[in-house]
Amino acid sequence: AKGAGKNQWRRYQAHLHGAMVERLELRSALDHAVHEGHFLLAYQPIVDLTTDEAVGFEALVRWHHPTRGVIAPAEFLEVAEESGLVVPMGRWVLDQALHTVAQWWRTLPRSRRPYVSVNVSARQFREGNFVEQVKQSLAYAGVPPQALMLELSEALLDGGHDAIWDDLAVLRDFGVGIAVDDFGTRHASPGDLRRRPVDVVKIDKGFADDTTLIAGLVTLARTLGLTVIAEGVESPAHRDLLIRLGCPLGQGYLLSSPLDGTEALSRMSGHLPL
Ligand code: C2E
Ligand code: CA
Ligand code: CA
Ligand code: CA
Repeated sequence: AKGAGKNQWRRYQAHLHGAMVERLELRSALDHAVHEGHFLLAYQPIVDLTTDEAVGFEALVRWHHPTRGVIAPAEFLEVAEESGLVVPMGRWVLDQALHTVAQWWRTLPRSRRPYVSVNVSARQFREGNFVEQVKQSLAYAGVPPQALMLELSEALLDGGHDAIWDDLAVLRDFGVGIAVDDFGTRHASPGDLRRRPVDVVKIDKGFADDTTLIAGLVTLARTLGLTVIAEGVESPAHRDLLIRLGCPLGQGYLLSSPLDGTEALSRMSGHLPL
């Protein structure tokens, strides 16, 4: 029995070791990807539910792995966060998204120019001069700050992130839009929201079938004068509910999957109906 226990322990050790090696390998592959620029962005339309027009596009990162193909963020974001690689990756995402929105703006008439919405992680503020980086990237791409929205997780509304909100206030005064992502998951209070520089809240896709909760979140947001975007709109019934509740903007597979930059432009130009 003692021998069996020992064998089990060895197997457990080998398993742990395997998981650690896998993580280290992922990290070094990711490091390589960041230096080689092996990423791409997909752009998912944010749609006016009453007119079907796209008002903006959320930029979603994918790892374009040379042998494994396209890898979703769920598989590498945790390692990117832990290792700090999310900082240089985030810089690439911002530059690439602004480069793409600049192309759209050059092509489209003034009345149809969408913004691009970029997810940012707290580490990007702490490591590196984020405010200057955003201003420089906008200038380099040649688009005004109104072409950019930044998405921050609702978790940042909790205490202890004042320095980040100071930076966001500067960017918002400059003209960049600020959105709170995953809205409803952390029960931010009206007071938390009111004292932060926020324009938009995005209702988390996890609430798609909770009518009462969605109604409450929409009412709260509207009371505070915030724009609401509902994520995870997958059915006509969900869309109709949102329209009835007074939430005019949605994002989700019913409206459109994430697209590449060219497809996104085609939709905006009206070649493909939304
Ligand atoms: P998120 O910010 O909540 O982004 C929305 C996610 O929902 C995307 O997954 C999108 O493809 C997916 N989605 C879109 N429509 C539907 C729908 O109708 N139903 C459902 N169930 N899902 C839908 P994706 O692209 O896999 O991204 C996952 C998460 O990775 C994002 O969640 C975001 O938190 C993070 N992420 C993506 N790009 C970046 C980035 O550039 N930087 C950072 N820091 N995080 C990113
Ligand atoms: Ca987001
Ligand atoms: Ca979200
Ligand atoms: Ca989410």
